[in-house]
Formats: sequence, structure tokens, C-alpha cells
Amino acid sequence: MTIIARVALDLSLDKTFDYLIPPELAGQIQSGSRVKVPFGKRELLGSVMALLDHSPHSNLKLVLKVLGPRPLLIPQVMDLARWMADYYCCPFELALKSALPEAVRKEKSGWRAQLWVRWISPPGQIPKLTGRQREILKRLEEVREIPLKQFLQTTNSTAALLRKLECRCLLEIREKIQERDPYGDDIIIPSAPLELNPEQNAALGAISAALQNPARAGKFKPVFLLHGVTGSGKTEVYLQSIAKTLELGRGAIVLVPEIALTPQTVERFKARFSTGPLQTLVAVLHSHLSSGERHDEWQKILQGRARIVIGARSAVFAPVNPLGLIIVDEEHESSYKQEEAPRYHARDVAVMRGRMEQCVVVLGSATPSLESYYNARNRKYSLLEMTVRADDKKLPLVRVVDMRHEFRKEKGIPIFSQLLKSAIERRLEQCEQTILFLNRRGYASSLQCPKCGYVAGCPNCSISLTYHRQESQLRCHICGHTGQVPDLCPACRNPAIRFAGIGTEKVEEALRKLFPRARVQRMDSDILKRKNDYRLLLGDFRSGKIDILLGTQMIAKGLHFPNVTLVGIVYADLSLHIPDFRAGERTFQLLTQVAGRAGRGEIEGEVFVQSFTPFHPAIQYARRHDFQGFYEQELEFRQQLQYPPVSRVALLTIKGKIEEKVRFTAECLKRELEQRLSPFDGLVMAGPAPAPLARAETWFRYHLMLRIRQMSKLSQSLALELKNFKCPEEVSVTVDIDPVNLM
Ligand SMILES: [Zn+2]
Ligand SMILES: [Zn+2]
Repeated sequence: MTIIARVALDLSLDKTFDYLIPPELAGQIQSGSRVKVPFGKRELLGSVMALLDHSPHSNLKLVLKVLGPRPLLIPQVMDLARWMADYYCCPFELALKSALPEAVRKEKSGWRAQLWVRWISPPGQIPKLTGRQREILKRLEEVREIPLKQFLQTTNSTAALLRKLECRCLLEIREKIQERDPYGDDIIIPSAPLELNPEQNAALGAISAALQNPARAGKFKPVFLLHGVTGSGKTEVYLQSIAKTLELGRGAIVLVPEIALTPQTVERFKARFSTGPLQTLVAVLHSHLSSGERHDEWQKILQGRARIVIGARSAVFAPVNPLGLIIVDEEHESSYKQEEAPRYHARDVAVMRGRMEQCVVVLGSATPSLESYYNARNRKYSLLEMTVRADDKKLPLVRVVDMRHEFRKEKGIPIFSQLLKSAIERRLEQCEQTILFLNRRGYASSLQCPKCGYVAGCPNCSISLTYHRQESQLRCHICGHTGQVPDLCPACRNPAIRFAGIGTEKVEEALRKLFPRARVQRMDSDILKRKNDYRLLLGDFRSGKIDILLGTQMIAKGLHFPNVTLVGIVYADLSLHIPDFRAGERTFQLLTQVAGRAGRGEIEGEVFVQSFTPFHPAIQYARRHDFQGFYEQELEFRQQLQYPPVSRVALLTIKGKIEEKVRFTAECLKRELEQRLSPFDGLVMAGPAPAPLARAETWFRYHLMLRIRQMSKLSQSLALELKNFKCPEEVSVTVDIDPVNLM
């Protein structure tokens, strides 16, 4: 007989506790149930990890209460959380917390209940009624069932009056759960599958074969990398793969970057599965939902009514059961990585969940991450390529403008080249639209000469040095190399080398001056925070009320406007020279995505990329739409310095209020790790060095970077060593496995 529940409390203790199950709760508690238990003098909530016959501990306390009629965690997701805790070096409870949204963890059930009045046919003889009572009953007989509040309003009656009638069994008042639907007001027009071109067909064929038998998918590995150029029709392949999954009696999870989770995206999925034999609800999970909406969406999945889930990062934990397919769209997006603990990468968690539940995983992108493409090349993933646009449109022509010439022509730093200026003018005359794009500079800045394009780089690590303005110093945050800020450019002797870049406001100002009659709209993160403004703004742009849209990378994602024939990238250099080994990759991705916004309609598109380093490979390969070429040369660079994807990285951040103490701790930690981790073959440890963002608020931050070919064993040892490391007071150490942000 199982009488003991092993419980993980909602604390970060990385420990479970055993509790006795009282007889009255026997049979109601299962693995994955949420329970309330005593802990010290408090009562806490927790999740049941396992049921046991006996416990090694004595004097067990009793479980106080079980929440909800069924377990909230499915065993598959509990296993996934366990793996996450090990791999990402975080307490197990924290991993579990990501898997269970706050809205469903709470003690109080999150359903919204409402009182309804229902008509019941009179039992035999109708008793004597007043005229008023008869009138009310007649109205109710017409509508049969109606929310109480609404009925009271329309009949101008009182609850007491209705209760009286209820006592005489003439009507019924009861509580009904009312489900919230965040997209309830949208009108969904059903859509039918589109005809596929040969490349789409081949991709669907391979995915379908794997879906039939994920364990033995023949020549295909069950993880696919779907590399399709912008506009190649990946979404249609997703939709038809999901249809196959449903036919096989399984469900699907679709991950998209938060910012791409627009109403249009959601509508496309709902439209396909709103009718027909495969009809199912589509649950949507993202951060703009209210807590109540999130609760209801999640319950729809748990109850099996929504068999398709579309959502941002955390939707990878959705309790779809059985699960057949996970799609990660725009798999290269850095927003899949969570920046606070547990610092998981949703794409990698998806691949692991696929392996654990034997389901198919499709990673889609026009610009795959180096990691995924490397895995595809090494046959860990199956590669599917879609090289033509679904509508046969040509990819836009990309021109690179050398801004060094403009600098020589003009006084001061130029914003618009002559070429881009006249291209915008032409669009205004022809009533076509322009998107201008300014990739935001990272937190830290590099030093670049606007005259010759020179960038100060680290001689050891091949990344840009960070310009620390206050100390007037250049530093490498990987190896710690330091240098003085030169007064003149070392390459061309230009004295104006301390060029700090230009923000969107400045560009907007310049635009208004140059084109006073154009309708210009700036779109940045402040605007995007207000969901409706964003929708309205895009609507205005679509209907042609805006001539020029100016924004940051947020406008690079998936937007599709047929009348946009010109895209201008104001300074490609801003993302190119951030001190990160992925800077080139990010710039290539960004340029390709942005260029993909041009020419989605009847008229061919044109793209201008302005740069002070126009011959940088990331820019040149993006210009030629040449992913392969970019991949080859970028991989070579990563191989030389043992950066991912040929290695894996663990980034330790040591921070505190007193710099001396932080540096000292970092050095001690390094010495200790060097000793303890010496059995690991090929482990490279760099640093400690000040982080590019060396002072965040009032904290001093130092980095230690570990690189190794295989991470899983190292991360477990690392977690142990960090637990045992005596960290001085006021200094803290965090670890980020497979970091995406090196700031
Ligand atoms: Zn120079
Ligand atoms: Zn260095």
C-alpha cells in the first residue's frame, strides 16, 4: 500500500520531503498532484514527485490537502524538469516551477465561475403564481438558460424573487464555469491545406515518415532542421505536419518567438483546425495573457481538449499527452533562452523532450543557428532544405553602401547615404513603402573608426574589445586583455575614433528633416509593450497610412507587407562589433531576416545595407543570400578558438559590491575549479575578466568562461563544486550553461 508521498516544496532547496497520506486522502493523490503540507511552522504547497510504500525517515507529518481533481504535472514533464535541473545546474524545484505556470500552481482554483438561471419544465401541476412570477417564468422559458446577472437586468427582478421560485422547483440557479478565451472576439475563417511545391512536399514527406515511427524513422533522425529561405512556406509545412500528427492521435506544440506571436500567426493555426474531422481547440500561451486566461488555456491542454499549443518559450512544458510533434519556429532566435534561472534554452529542451517522449521535433529557420546546422551536418539532425520562395518571387537585391566614403564627403557622421536617400525619394514618389531598420547596439560598445572602419579587437580571442568609457580603457571580457584607448585611429590616424553610434530618435529627426512631407512612424520597444498600439500601428502601415516605418530588430520578424519595396539598414555595424563571438552570426541573421521583408508583393524589392566595414563576411554573405558560405567561414573561426558549436560553454558570473572582493573571489574560484575539474579532457578555462557590462547598477561583475566538447558531465560536476565553494559574503556566483548573452 502506498501511504507516503515524496514532495518537492515550492522552495529552492533542491531536496524532497516525505509525508504520510491520511486515509481520507488515499486514492486522491498521485504522482504530479499538487498538495499542501506542513513545513516547520508554515503550511506550504508542493508537487508530489513519487508515491512510496515506506520512507527512510520517521515521524512523518500528514499531507493536509490535495489541490484539484487531477495531477497538474504529467510524468513526462517531471522527467524533463529533472533533466533540466541536472544540465542547467539549478535546483530541481526551480526547473519544476518553469514547467507549471503560476496561474495553475496557486491553491485557489483559477476558474471563473458565474451563476446561471435555467428553466425547468414544471413538475405536474403549476402552483399558484402571481402575474409577475408568471411573466418571469415565461421569459425564462424563451431563453432557457442565461447568466443570472443578465437575467435580473433584463427582467428588472431581484435574486430573492428568483430564489423563491427556485424553492418551488420552477427554475434552477447554479454555478457554471465560464472559460476565458483571449482570442474569443476574433472571427476565424476556416482554411484548407494549400498546394505544396516539390520542396515543401519532400519536407512534409520526410516529417510524415518519422511521425509514423519516430523510434525507427528509417533514414531520418526524428529531429529535423527545416532550412527554408524567407517566404519559402515553412508555416504551411508545419500546418500539414500537425494534421498528420492529429491523424495519428497525438498532439503538437508549436514554439514561436514571443514577438512573432502576433494575432495573425495564431489565426492561421486556428483557421486550419477550427472545423473538419481533425477539429481541435488551439491553446495559446504567451506573456501578455492575464493570469486567468493562462489558467484556462493550460487546463484546456491538460484535459485534452486543446491538442495543439502555440506559444513562446515556456510552452515547451505544456502538458500535451500524448505528444507527437514539437515545432520550434525561428529556432535561431535568442529569445528562446531564459536569462534568469533556470537558464534553459527552449530549443534544446524541445529536442530533449522529443527524445524522451519519442516524438518528432522540427526546427525551422531561414538562418539556422550554427549549433543546429552543425548538428545537421554531423547527422545528429536530418536536414530539409527549401531554397525557393513558395510564390516563386525572387529574393530581393541587396546593395551594400560603404559609409566610409560618405564620411569623407560630409562633415560629421552621416546617417543617410546619397544612395539610400534617393531610393527613399523614389518610393515616396511611387507611393510604395519603406522600412528602415536600426539594429540596437548591445549594452556594451566597441571602438570603431567611422573613417576607415577599424575596430579594436582582442589579439587572443578574435572578438571586439569593450570600450569602458569611465576608465577610458579597452578590455576583453573573455581573456582579460586590456589596452589604452588610442587618440588617433591606429589604421588611418583619424582623430574622431570615439564614435558612439546613433539611436532611433536621431534617425527619426534626420528623416523628418530630409522628407518633411513623408508620414514617418517610429516603432520601438515602448510601443511594442502596449499590445493594442502595436496592432493598430501595423494596421495603419498595412493600409498605407504610413510611408516609412523605422524600428529596431523587432520589425524584422515575420511581418509581411506587399507594398514594402525598400528596406534600409542604417548601420549594420551596430550589431557586428559587439564583444560576443556570435556577433557575426547575429548580424548575418538580422540582415537576412530584414531583407526578407522586402518584395513580398508584386514589385521586386530592394535592400540597402549601410556599413563602415562593408567587406565583413557577415555582410557580404547576407548580401548574396549565401547561408552555406557564411556557415563555412564562420565555423572555421569558431574551430580555431574552440567556440560553440565545436565546444560548449559554461559562463560563470561573479558579482558583488566591492570590486576587489569580486576579483579575488573569481581568482580563487578559478584555481579551485582548475584543480577539481582537471580530469575533464580538453577543458579550457578563460578569465577571470570584467564582464562587458562590468557594472550593472552598482554591482561589479566578472566572468569565467569554461569551454568543453561535451557539457552534460561537466555541468553536474560544476554544480557540485559551486555548491561546495565557500563564497565570501556579499559575493555571488551564477552559472549559465550554453549562454546566449555574454554581457
Ligand atoms: Zn581609421
Ligand atoms: Zn581576449
